Amino acid sequence: MKLLIHAGAGNLSRDSDLGQLEPQMIEGLKIALETGYAILRAGGSSLDAVIEVVAGMEDYPLFNAGRGSVLTRDGSVEMDAVVMDGRDRQAGAVACVSTVRNPVRAARCVMERSPHVLLVGSGAEAFARDNGCVIVSPDYFVTPEMYAYWSSMPERSTPGLEISAGGVASKHGTVGAVALDLHGNVAAATSTGGLLNKISGRVGDSPIPGAGTYACNRSVAVSFTGTGEHILRSCAGHRLASLIEHKGLSVPDAMTILLAELTAIGAEVGMIAISPDGGWCVDFNTTGMLRGSVDANGSIVTAMFIDGAVRRMAG
Ligand code: ASP
Repeated sequence: MKLLIHAGAGNLSRDSDLGQLEPQMIEGLKIALETGYAILRAGGSSLDAVIEVVAGMEDYPLFNAGRGSVLTRDGSVEMDAVVMDGRDRQAGAVACVSTVRNPVRAARCVMERSPHVLLVGSGAEAFARDNGCVIVSPDYFVTPEMYAYWSSMPERSTPGLEISAGGVASKHGTVGAVALDLHGNVAAATSTGGLLNKISGRVGDSPIPGAGTYACNRSVAVSFTGTGEHILRSCAGHRLASLIEHKGLSVPDAMTILLAELTAIGAEVGMIAISPDGGWCVDFNTTGMLRGSVDANGSIVTAMFIDGAVRRMAG
């Protein structure tokens, strides 16, 4: 069994406001890893583990998912989330939701209680409410820090990440988890507020099975973070799975190829992946990525920057 998590990749520096928050960020990762470890150790499914881990990270206000999500150009929060089960490639997702406290739980409801894969906007929110998900005011998600940052941005018409090097905007704080359970099954979940300053209605890679998230017991469970448009148009999740399934590559070797391809088209990206045979890898092409792992004996590894820690983690 093994669990890998991320809380976003980006061009981070220790001197930035965000860099100063490293201890709190690492604490958030450790709490998530402990949650997932307890589930997996007790024989729980990889599906349950990734959902509980991601729900906890959605509640943690320093990550760009659930409370603490980045704001759109209009100053609102619009979140996307997905879950995928490697046993049968069942998947559920929601996009552009602003009132569901834990979008990843709504994604699970879509998978288990609807005939569909992806619901968006008000329809997704009504479905989540009708299926017992906790609904909150849109204000719940807006932290004072994120509002202050958004208000101070000089140019709110510029979407995305280039607004201030080293600041909040240059870090992609999406959260994700992939797990291999004691029964040999893999699963993946990803949740995000998307890109800071995005146009309202924009949906990125994260909630799209085969793009920002994928899970199949024949190959791999993977969750991405980074510039979503690049990941989306590369069908990156399915591409990684295909390299493993059809070319017979290991997870680290397939990730080397995919990372080079994504870098070549200008993506800033990070990814975590694990296969049913236990092969796994965490890698990124930015200066930092919030990342962590826990293995069968409970040993936890976490890191935020490259310095002092190896960039790639693999097994
Ligand atoms: N990939 C996410 C998106 O484009 C952003 C991120 O990973 O931070 O919505």
